[in-house]
Amino acid sequence: MDLGKIREDILTFVRSSYPDMQVRVEPWSEDPSKIALFFIEKKFEPIYPLQRYHYLCHKIPKDYQDRELANTIWFELAPGESPEDLRYPDEELIEEITPDVMKCVIAAQILEALDDVMCPVDGDTPREKCHGDYRHTRPILLERRFTEDEFFDVFHVLMAQGGNCDCEILFNIAKGSRLATEYWSARAEGRKPVDSHRSG
Ligand SMILES: [Zn+2]
Repeated sequence: MDLGKIREDILTFVRSSYPDMQVRVEPWSEDPSKIALFFIEKKFEPIYPLQRYHYLCHKIPKDYQDRELANTIWFELAPGESPEDLRYPDEELIEEITPDVMKCVIAAQILEALDDVMCPVDGDTPREKCHGDYRHTRPILLERRFTEDEFFDVFHVLMAQGGNCDCEILFNIAKGSRLATEYWSARAEGRKPVDSHRSG
């Protein structure tokens, strides 16, 4: 396997979204029969490793992943982080806590508050754009007595339901959010919907 070629290919795939990403491709120190891919990116700082992985997966074509990257281990790092810093969720635990976490989220009206920020009822209130992270959901959670310690669980429960960023929470989890309703009515009427993502 030509490691230099893989590195070049990956840089080509990610360039449009991550022009400054550093990519290292090398035999994995824990099992040299596998290839370690290190993706080092400043934009990864505010987001969880699973979100980073989600975005990378979108950038690197699936058929390329299947063909060339089947034997690779990925490390999605912000500058200064090492693989030991990466924390991934326990999928079984997330599944188990999902009903109760969602009860708390719904009781605290987090989804409505987020809709107010991203798609205000009053047309004069400026609307916030999504930055592909949770910068609008975090303060809402804090205001409503969720703690920073709870964020990891809450956000991984949301991610497991397709809420990979602020706007996706409204599109994929909140039932009947104004943001989603507005988007689809624009589409149905042949208008260009407001793009809630600042960057793709
Ligand atoms: Zn978004």
